[in-house]
Amino acid sequence: MLASRLYSPTLRELPADAVVVSHQYMLKAGMMRKIGNGIYSFLPLAWRSIQKVEKIIREEINKTGAQEIMMPIVQPAELWQKTGRWDVFGPEMFKLKDRNDREYCLGPTHEELVTSLIQMDTTSYKQLPVSVYQIQNKYRDEKRPRFGLMRSREFIMKDGYTFDADEEGLDKQYKLMYDAYTRIFTRCGLTFRPVIADSGAIGGSGSHEFEVLADSGEADIVYCENCDFAANIEAVDPLTVKCDIHNDKEKELVETPGQHTIEMVCDFLHAPVAQSVKAVVYNVDGLVVLAMVRGDHEVNETKIQHIYNAINVDMASDEDLKKVGLTAGYISPIGLKRTKDFDILVDPTVMEMQDACCGANEKDKHYIHVNPARDFTDVRVETIRQIQEGDVCPHCGGKIVRCRGIEVGQVFKLGTKYSEALHATFLDNQGKSHPFVMGCYGIGVTRTVAASIEQNHDDDGIIWPVAIAPYEAVIVPANNKSEEVMAAARKLYEDMEDSRDEVVLDDRNERAGIKFKDADLIGYPVRVTIGKKWQQSGCVEIKIRRSGEVVEVPLEEAKDKVL
Ligand code: ATP
Ligand code: MG
Ligand code: MG
Ligand code: MG
Repeated sequence: MLASRLYSPTLRELPADAVVVSHQYMLKAGMMRKIGNGIYSFLPLAWRSIQKVEKIIREEINKTGAQEIMMPIVQPAELWQKTGRWDVFGPEMFKLKDRNDREYCLGPTHEELVTSLIQMDTTSYKQLPVSVYQIQNKYRDEKRPRFGLMRSREFIMKDGYTFDADEEGLDKQYKLMYDAYTRIFTRCGLTFRPVIADSGAIGGSGSHEFEVLADSGEADIVYCENCDFAANIEAVDPLTVKCDIHNDKEKELVETPGQHTIEMVCDFLHAPVAQSVKAVVYNVDGLVVLAMVRGDHEVNETKIQHIYNAINVDMASDEDLKKVGLTAGYISPIGLKRTKDFDILVDPTVMEMQDACCGANEKDKHYIHVNPARDFTDVRVETIRQIQEGDVCPHCGGKIVRCRGIEVGQVFKLGTKYSEALHATFLDNQGKSHPFVMGCYGIGVTRTVAASIEQNHDDDGIIWPVAIAPYEAVIVPANNKSEEVMAAARKLYEDMEDSRDEVVLDDRNERAGIKFKDADLIGYPVRVTIGKKWQQSGCVEIKIRRSGEVVEVPLEEAKDKVL
């Protein structure tokens, strides 16, 4: 590729929303452009890296016996209604209607679709296992799209699905995929850790995330220095401290936004608000209201479950809620619980809580007909502390380290959640019908490219791992004016280009300084400079981007040294 022809328009001024390095460098180096909020076009350099990641994925996933397919992006609503996820995904799903008013979504993931697809033609245990995957655009109307490719609304995902006759078969597939993921991220040149994960909205019985270790990551990871314990903090049981306190100053409590209420209560109780206090429990004449302080994470069922387990409560119904004059309007149904000591417990979701905090003077919208000043008497605080840096490892007694991670992939043992909901069954050798035992396996392809930049860069630009660099090398003729230098550069380029399409010749009519700057920004792993030295001694300079190491070799040897 000739740099004069390469469509990589570099930027000098960065938009204000580009706050993480991968986002900044990808815009600056002309790798991509923003089209809408969380929606990007990929220019040639980004697209080459993405395709390299995809190639590595295909090679390794094919080795597991999985076969590549392609499913539609547009998915009928009925499938999602059958599993209940039309509502669970809620506003994160892009929904649309056709001219006949039928509802569809743009696939945020494909468990429903693949289950119904495989069910069509797989009827016997003899056809199992089935393992399929695709690499495709996914759509999620993220609440906060940000950080460029790290959290976008349209992104490329590799999603794979396995169908087995029993748990044992699933365990085998899971292990195959787990190992393939380990090879994929290793080949991509990333420093990562597989960590125990919470299965979240996807559901199921076991899960690992593959986390690229980087300070800009949104995931909170703990791992042991001594053994192989590593987990997303969401999946670790919180350490709980309880305290029962009698509130004799209830009149000071007034109706306020959620977060503020909690802060007031904590203040009133002389309890620390910070990260450590995650929930406040109000007892309103036998009615218990659990209000959660927003932590770093979005709410999920497991986390709420931890809290309820800690205070020993069970699920209550919508009717229970109505009986005590509460409306479920803003209240997550998963938060309604019946307690042994109290009638009902209501949990406004963390998300809603945050909404309430954001709006100025917004009245607390989580419960109605409740006047805290009048109703809240006995106040208890649940202080929930999560595992911290320096804690003792629950498994081996080693030291716990806490760090940030970028979730680039996740594997799940789904079990029969989707096959049961969609009546996807096969017949065993006795002619008895069973639901498929499923697994699902995702990789964020575009996020992987961004994560690689988060982990590999310096102040001058990107430092690509060779395996996923857009091009492996750039040839820089340092003196454009010299016909001799240009001819030598062109000759070397043609030799290299012939063997592999991995080299850029910077033939632009620019000063050497500008070419070097762009080479560092784009992050070519190797730079070959042909300049004065070559004219004097016949040697070219080979510079390794990562180490800064420079070697001089005769021009004729350059090709073998670089490729
Ligand atoms: P997150 O926790 O970051 O929201 P997720 O757990 O919702 O991700 P999965 O449903 O596990 O994501 O999807 C599989 C993979 O797709 C993730 O591991 C991640 O690499 C990628 N991914 C998910 N959401 C996005 C997004 N908005 N932008 C880019 N990649 C994403
Ligand atoms: Mg998500
Ligand atoms: Mg996640
Ligand atoms: Mg995930």
